[in-house]
This record gives sequence, structure tokens and C-alpha cells, in this order.
Amino acid sequence: MFLIYNNAYLMLKIDILTIFPGMFEGPFTESLIGRASQKEIFKICIIDIRSFSRNKHKKVDGRPFGGGVGMVIRPEPLYYAIRSVVVMGGGNSYKGDSIYRKSHVVYMSPQGKTLNNEIVKDLTKFKHLVVICGHYEGIDERIMNYVDEEISIGDYVLTGGEIPAMVLTDAVVRMLPGVVKEKDSIKNDSFYNGLLDYPHYTRPAVFKGHKVPEVLMSGNHKKIDEWCVREAYRRTKERRPDLLKK
Ligand code: SAM
Repeated sequence: MFLIYNNAYLMLKIDILTIFPGMFEGPFTESLIGRASQKEIFKICIIDIRSFSRNKHKKVDGRPFGGGVGMVIRPEPLYYAIRSVVVMGGGNSYKGDSIYRKSHVVYMSPQGKTLNNEIVKDLTKFKHLVVICGHYEGIDERIMNYVDEEISIGDYVLTGGEIPAMVLTDAVVRMLPGVVKEKDSIKNDSFYNGLLDYPHYTRPAVFKGHKVPEVLMSGNHKKIDEWCVREAYRRTKERRPDLLKK
């Protein structure tokens, strides 16, 4: 287990339960999450489900009842991994054990609700997320008694829940105040206000004969703002008209 730990003013703790903890080292120590982890806003813990296995070989999978191909993650190690991190006292009812807790448990699953910006925003309201990564054919269905929400990252099947958990964590953490330096940049991002982002340009002003739109170099901020809004609408209409209908 490794930890990205920053404490003074924690807005969110995310515990990720996985059988492949090593997969998180690069993505969570580099890039925006790695840098933001210095800022004492959130904490990410990677929990190895195998360490809760009572099997001497730390086996966590079993053959499916009823036959069929593939293996299934057994309920006991996953249950004890969940119980090791859930925060008790107030909050949601803990379905399976009829006790009370403050943690929100998410299972990354192709059968869940498809992740979008609204779900990401909602997840930032929790103080504690527990994210379960499945593998093989998935997890024993009885673990659903302890899961609040199933979330998918799209209509395709990956080998494991680790990459979906990284996608979810990155999107949620990015939205926490103070993680992205310029807070307005999040508000202009695609989907935040139901539109796609406007196009961006940097130096040089002419590249292979292609010019930057003149208004962006005019220094007239009112006109630049108007251009940005117009372009955001134009792009959305062209690429994602469904967003405008919403
Ligand atoms: N048999 C399962 C099914 O068809 O629904 C797929 C199991 S998949 C091979 C193994 C694990 O990868 C799942 O338990 C889940 O945690 C994760 N996974 C795969 N695709 C995913 C997706 N699109 N979104 C979120 N998690 C996914």
C-alpha cells in the first residue's frame, strides 16, 4: 500500500481497493494529481485487497458457482478491505450491516451509470470515497450489499477496474478547489456549463501559414470574452448538439 498523504485541510479522502496496487504508482505520483498531492487538499490510499485474504497464498479469486469461464473475486477479502476503511457515524445507512457510516462506496463496473461531469461534481460533495476495482469476471454479487453506486467509464470492457478508478479519481480531484491553479479554467472546461470548451492558441502567431484569430491578439477583453462564448456555442452545436438540447 502506498499513500499520497496531505493532511492539514483535507477535503476528500479516496481509498482505492485493488489487487494490483502497483498500477497506481506512476499515474498518481506524476502529473496533476502528483503535484496537487503536495497541496494538503486530498488524500489517496491504495489498499491491497490481497492483504485481507486468509488464504496462505493470498489468493482472492474463486471459480464461479454454476460453472462458466473465468474467475470471480471472492467476497471475504473484499468485505474486510471495505470494512477496514469505511468511516462510521452519521451519513448513509450501511446497507449490508445496518450500521451507519459517512463513506460513499463506488464499484467501478461496465454495468454502472456512465461517468459524466454531473456525477463527478456530485462525488466531490463526499468527504470519503471508497472505490472498488474488480478483475476477472468481476466481484461476488453479494458485495453489492455494501456498494452505494456502480460507475462505468464507457460502453466497453477493460480487464480491470484500476484504469477506470484512475479516471474517476483524476476527474474528481481536479474539481476540488485549489487543485487546478487557475480556478476559472475548470469553469471554462468542456461540460462544466453544458458546453464544449472554445479553441485555444499559443505562440507563434502564425504557424505554417495558419494564423491565430485576430481578436485574440487585439487586447480587447470584452471582445475576446464574446469570441470565447460564441466559439464554445459553435463547437457544441457542431460536435455535440445533444448538449444544447439539455
Ligand atoms: N464480466 C463483466 C461484465 O461483462 O460486466 C466484466 C468484468 S471486467 C473483465 C473486470 C473488471 O474491470 C470489472 O469488475 C470492473 O471493475 C472493471 N471494468 C471493466 N470495464 C469497465 C468499465 N467500462 N467501466 C468501469 N469498470 C470497468
